[in-house]
Amino acid sequence: MLFESLNLIEPIRLALAAEGYTTPTPIQQQAIPIVLAGKDLIGVAQTGTGKTAAFSIPIIQQLYQKVDTNRKGKRKIKALIVTPTRELAIQIGESLAAYGANTDLKYSVIFGGVKQGKQTEELQQGVDILVATPGRLLDLIGQGIINLSSIEIFVLDEADRMLDMGFVHDVKRLIKLLPTKRQSLFFSATMPDEIVKLSATILNNPSSVSV
Ligand code: AMP
Repeated sequence: MLFESLNLIEPIRLALAAEGYTTPTPIQQQAIPIVLAGKDLIGVAQTGTGKTAAFSIPIIQQLYQKVDTNRKGKRKIKALIVTPTRELAIQIGESLAAYGANTDLKYSVIFGGVKQGKQTEELQQGVDILVATPGRLLDLIGQGIINLSSIEIFVLDEADRMLDMGFVHDVKRLIKLLPTKRQSLFFSATMPDEIVKLSATILNNPSSVSV
């Protein structure tokens, strides 16, 4: 199977070609059509399987197609990707930059352990896609710098690691702040009971993909 059969828009096809990608990985083959169809997804996949592109590509495509209606006034955050570590957040940001290189979508990456000044400046200019670790995200929401009311797509990445790192309360608080009408994508390398329960509080009639 080639990327050609996934009905991707030209800006993305060109970006993937520039990255040297020809064949979607199994998680990409299965997940991209589901996400493009607007459905909720539960993806059981480890890092290294291409899961970042599996959610980044269809998110970029969905937001790009709404580009005209979104350009009145300041950009609002339409996709939120929450991931447990700074390193993962940065990697996801790099993926968005690569796959979205031919679009004018704006993204921002926020994480704790650094001063918030640069991050808040970027946010105040308006972004379409926000990549965040839970603590800094909640902190900036509390300060009124981030508002989640315009979120259309929510991704919880590496959910099992999130719990291992003690972020369970942060994640639960966060979910309560999201609009109820949204598309949610949930990724975890393993599916212990606690993760299955957490996924049930986030997802609505999800399709499952396991690689
Ligand atoms: P991830 O599992 O998302 O961390 O991706 C693992 C690595 O595979 C990253 O370095 C990606 O750049 C690369 N990658 C993802 N999808 C593809 C693909 N379809 N073809 C070639 N490389 C890929």
